[in-house]
Amino acid sequence: MSLAEQFPDITKRNQPLAPFTHLKIGGPAEFVVQPRSVDELNAVVNACQRDKVSVRMLGGGFNLLIKDDPVPGAVIRLTAEPFTFLRREGKRVTAGGGAQLFDLIAFTVKNGLGGLETLVGIRGTVGGSVRCNVGDRSGEICQTVRNVTVLTDTGNVQVRGRDELTFTEHQSDIDEPVILSVEFELESEPPPTVMNRLLKTWIQRKAAEPLSFQAAVRLFRNPPGNTAASLIDRAQMTKSRAGGAELSERNSNYAVAHPGTTARDILQLAETVRAKVKERTGVSLERELHVW
Ligand SMILES: Cc1cc2nc3c(=O)[nH]c(=O)nc-3n(C[C@H](O)[C@H](O)[C@H](O)COP(=O)(O)OP(=O)(O)OC[C@H]3O[C@@H](n4cnc5c(N)ncnc54)[C@H](O)[C@@H]3O)c2cc1C
Repeated sequence: MSLAEQFPDITKRNQPLAPFTHLKIGGPAEFVVQPRSVDELNAVVNACQRDKVSVRMLGGGFNLLIKDDPVPGAVIRLTAEPFTFLRREGKRVTAGGGAQLFDLIAFTVKNGLGGLETLVGIRGTVGGSVRCNVGDRSGEICQTVRNVTVLTDTGNVQVRGRDELTFTEHQSDIDEPVILSVEFELESEPPPTVMNRLLKTWIQRKAAEPLSFQAAVRLFRNPPGNTAASLIDRAQMTKSRAGGAELSERNSNYAVAHPGTTARDILQLAETVRAKVKERTGVSLERELHVW
């Protein structure tokens, strides 16, 4: 029996994925599943494990490039309330893996809790943001993580404490299929103080990103002591283009997808830039963007 037959109420077959990503490009998924509870999610993951069906988690699609071909297996979206909740206990806040990072930050600022406000303007879900350890020089999300609750591929719910986790530049070692929720340890501060820091970061971040109406993705991790954007500029690759994909004029580490852009265009642009940066500066850039 296929997933659509086993879980008919929550599974769609041959579902286009492009609308669920920031770039609005990419092929359809064999199955898109939106479970309504942790038990239902567990049953789906178990069925996939048993039937050797691959499982992929889709957050906000802000750090994701989906190729133009069909994506085999199950793509899971955590959109139901058991995955999007926000809960406060003193200085600790727990957020579901499918909660929006923006909602979490707004919740902490309103509650006079500092620590996450410098991530304002970074879009995505809590699960995707922790898996990708979002942030920049003003701070990374891992600095406030106390523990992460995951669902393993054998269907166990496990809590991994901060000291069991390794976070590096825009990545973590969380390799279980699902981040169910994350507990953050924050600092009590007057809401206006937290709000001021938020506004300052918001202005700085927005000025260094593509324009908000543009569909764009970040391409590379910053190498130690440098930024990918400055290396791309040094290699004279500013505003390079492949098909409909073009490097942003505001920050060369972003590819902007103009109408008609394909995933192939983005990959080709990234590869050309990576090769030229290596040739002209000697630095090997690593891709930050996750590709399916
Ligand atoms: C314009 C723009 C500006 C950005 N600025 C920044 C920035 O300043 N700093 C920064 O660090 N990033 C930045 N990003 C990157 C992006 O916003 C983050 O990486 C984002 O938080 C990813 O979250 P997501 O939910 O969209 O994940 P997705 O893109 O949907 O997925 C990313 C990865 O996480 C996995 N994943 C998603 N949800 C889960 C889950 N619940 N459990 C397990 N795995 C999961 C996916 O399978 C995939 O491998 C920017 C992106 C854009 C487009």
